[in-house]
Amino acid sequence: MKILVVGGGGREHALVWKLRQSPRVEKIWCAPGNGGIAAEAECVGIDAGSVSALVELAEKLQPDLTVIGPELPLVNGVSDVFHQRKWAIVAPSAQAAQLEGSKIFSKEFMERHGLPTARRYGTYEQASQAYAALDGVRWPLVIKADGLCAGKGVLVAKDKEEARDFIERSLEKRELGPGGQRLLFEEALEGEELSFILLTDARSYAALVPTRDHKRAFDGDQGPNTGGMGAYSTDDLLPAALRETILSTIVEPVMHGLAADGIRYKGFLYIGLMLTKSGPKILEFNCRLGDPETQAILARADFDLAEVLADVAAGRLQAGKLKWRPGASACLVLASGGYPGKFATGKRIEGLAAAERIPGVKVLHAGTIRQTGASDGVEIITSGGRVLGVTATGSNLDAALASAYQGAAEIHFDGMHYRKDIGGHAAALRGGAAV
Ligand code: AMP
Repeated sequence: MKILVVGGGGREHALVWKLRQSPRVEKIWCAPGNGGIAAEAECVGIDAGSVSALVELAEKLQPDLTVIGPELPLVNGVSDVFHQRKWAIVAPSAQAAQLEGSKIFSKEFMERHGLPTARRYGTYEQASQAYAALDGVRWPLVIKADGLCAGKGVLVAKDKEEARDFIERSLEKRELGPGGQRLLFEEALEGEELSFILLTDARSYAALVPTRDHKRAFDGDQGPNTGGMGAYSTDDLLPAALRETILSTIVEPVMHGLAADGIRYKGFLYIGLMLTKSGPKILEFNCRLGDPETQAILARADFDLAEVLADVAAGRLQAGKLKWRPGASACLVLASGGYPGKFATGKRIEGLAAAERIPGVKVLHAGTIRQTGASDGVEIITSGGRVLGVTATGSNLDAALASAYQGAAEIHFDGMHYRKDIGGHAAALRGGAAV
C-alpha cells in the first residue's frame, strides 16, 4: 500500500509511525510533514488546508489510501471530492465535519436526536441581542463562537463583565474572524472531562482506548489554554460500567443520528464529554483525532493500522481487529519558551537520540524542521509552539510516565518547557495516587 497522510503535527507523526509498522505499507508521503516525519516518510510541502492542492497531489502520487489529520481540509470538503473520484480516504464528509466546524450545527444535531448535552439558551448574531440575553442566564455561562477559531472560540464566563467582553470582541470588533460572527450560549456543566474517540465507517464503529489530555500551560492546571501539553491513556480512566453507559447513552444514539441524517462519516470521531452527576453529557465533537491524545492512543495500538484504515475507507471496519496493549502510555509535550503566547523558533534540539534509546520511548515531532548543520550533519530545529511529544508505554501509568519523563530529561532546546504533572506524575513522585 502507498499511503498519503495529510498534516504536519505530532498526531500525523504518530499516524506515520504506526502505519510504517504495517508489513503491507510500501510507501508513505506526508503533506506537509515535519522534521521528525521526514525521517520516516517522504514529506511534500503543500498547504494541507487546500482541497485543490490535495487533489492535485493525489492525482500525481496515486496513493492507495489517504488519511487526513487536521480539521481544516475536512471542513473544506476534501472527503467529498475524493469520494466523487472514488479515491480511498479516511475522512468524514464536509457535512459531517460541521459537527466540529459549527457549534450551532453540532448543537442542533444533538438536540434533534435527543443526545445528552448542555442546555442551550440561544444563538446570537446581533451584539445587542447577545448583551440583552445575559439578563436571563445562570452563571457561569458558556459562550461558544460558531466557527473554527483556533482554540479561542469557547469561553466559560464567570460573570457579565467577562461575557460582555467576549461578545464585544467577537460580534462587534470581529477579533475572532469569520468563526466568531455567531455565538451560542449554553449552560455550564460540572464534572470531570473525558475524551471518547471512535473510529467509524458509518456502518459500525470501534472505540479507541480512553485518554485524558492536559490543556493548560502550567502545572496544577494553571496558566493559559494550549493545544494540549500532554496526554495519557490507561484503561483505568474508563471503568466498564461507565464505558457501557457512554456506549448506550452517547455513542449508539450518535451513530443512529448520523445514519438518520444521512451524514457520511468515515474516520475518527472525537466526543468530548463531561461526566456530570446526571450522567455523561456531550461538550463537543471533533471530526478528527485529538493532538496529543493520538500519540498516547497509538502508542498502545497493537494492530495493523494500515489494514484497519483501508477497511474504514472501504466501509468494512471490523472492530475486533483493533487490539490494544494492556498497561498505559503517556505523551509529554515539550513546548517553546513563551508558548502559547509569543515564542521564538529556530532553536537547535539536542538529545533526541538519547531519549529514544530509553526502552518504550518514542519522540514524536510536532513543530520541528530538519536542516543540514554546519558540519553537514542533519540538525533538528524548532519551528512551532508545541515542538515534541515524548511518548512512552509501560506496564502501568507510573511506568509509562517515568519513561516519558526520563526521555524528556535527555532533550534540550533553548526556552523549552513542559509540564511536570502529566497523568498525576507529581502526585506519583510524592507517593500519592497516580491518577
Ligand atoms: P469545546 O470546544 O466545545 O469543547 O469547548 C472547549 C472546552 O470548554 C471544553 O473542553 C470544556 O472544558 C469547556 N466547555 C465547553 N462547553 C462547556 C459546558 N457546557 N460546560 C462547561 N464547560 C464547557
